[in-house]
Amino acid sequence: MGQLEERYKNYRVPQEYMKQGVYPYFREITSKQATEVEMAGHKVLMFGSNAYTGLTGDERVIEAAKKALDKYGSGCAGSRFLNGTLDIHVQLEKELAEFVHKDEALCFSTGFTVNSGVIATVVGKGDYIICDDRDHASIVDGRRLSFARTLHYKHNDMDDLERVLKTLPYEAVKLIIVDGVFSMEGDLAKLPEIVALKKKYNCSIMVDEAHGLGVFGKQGRGVCDHFGLSDEVDLIMGTFSKSLASIGGFIAAGKETINYLRHTSRTYIFSASDTPAATAAALEALHIIQEEPERIEHLWDITNYALKRFQEEGFEIGDSESPIIPLYVRDIHKTFLVTQAAFEAGVFINPVIPPACAPQDTLIRFSLMASHSKEEVERGVQILKKVFVDLGIIK
Ligand code: PMP
Repeated sequence: MGQLEERYKNYRVPQEYMKQGVYPYFREITSKQATEVEMAGHKVLMFGSNAYTGLTGDERVIEAAKKALDKYGSGCAGSRFLNGTLDIHVQLEKELAEFVHKDEALCFSTGFTVNSGVIATVVGKGDYIICDDRDHASIVDGRRLSFARTLHYKHNDMDDLERVLKTLPYEAVKLIIVDGVFSMEGDLAKLPEIVALKKKYNCSIMVDEAHGLGVFGKQGRGVCDHFGLSDEVDLIMGTFSKSLASIGGFIAAGKETINYLRHTSRTYIFSASDTPAATAAALEALHIIQEEPERIEHLWDITNYALKRFQEEGFEIGDSESPIIPLYVRDIHKTFLVTQAAFEAGVFINPVIPPACAPQDTLIRFSLMASHSKEEVERGVQILKKVFVDLGIIK
């Protein structure tokens, strides 16, 4: 047995859950990512997707991707820096910058590589990164790659953020990085308070809009727009893998910062650019979001309905203010049991366990799409209610 095989032969956790028949990961989907998907030969209601605007199966998005495939081919075979820049990449960057009220934007291959490549590059030795302790893993990895010093504050605790800021030199570059919408709990960053502290302590701010775009703000422009604070935020990051029905990500900022990142960010320069189909799909989704405000209105109708119904039925749902609704279980094993029982009863939801949350905070992440009907949401609530009651999690 080789060194690595020897080392990892005792990595048992997934196998234990496999033996019990409750291993919930890597299930194969054999249909489009719509409100109902086909998995393991049966149809389940999809309440575990990040496609908040419900556009991944939209005919116009699919058609735009097909046309780009025909025109430009299947891949770009190089990075943006060299042979991988298409006119549609540039067009998408322009439109995204305008959409989030910034001078310019850069498109990366995924949202993860935006955070890991931008944070590592934009701050360095002698600078400080200040993170909410629930920031996304890609933010964590970005700050690990940076030579700046990182400090954390307790989730959404503005007194704790101020305590941290007070200890740092006024003139130093200090970048506060937050998820606009926290990806597991569905609550929002307290942006007005963070901006006030930015001014008081001479900082910069980066907001991850992965779960805010297409959901919050005018025409889905995000959480910064929702609070009317886009001008106060220095860097806005977004991804195409959720509301924009594709894959890829972007950073938007002032033109000097973007010019610097364009020539120095390693995940941008040393990684191939987004495929033509992915780029065209994101562009089309961005147009549809702006042209069809009724999609976002409906998303909010069903979100408010689901929040109310889960509360009425006695679920513990934390502080969610978004289409991401956490249903707390607070026990890893039971979280897997819920996932399996719900799946068998026809509902797909995501189990959230460490490191995505603290061990005592395990939960079921229930998320909505604009394509869900109220009846589908009600069916989801009913099925989950039975599962949670049967397992003794709620009464
Ligand atoms: N930021 C947040 C808050 C996320 O939730 C995610 C993905 N789940 C990412 C960044 C990474 O985005 P992508 O999937 O485009 O790599």
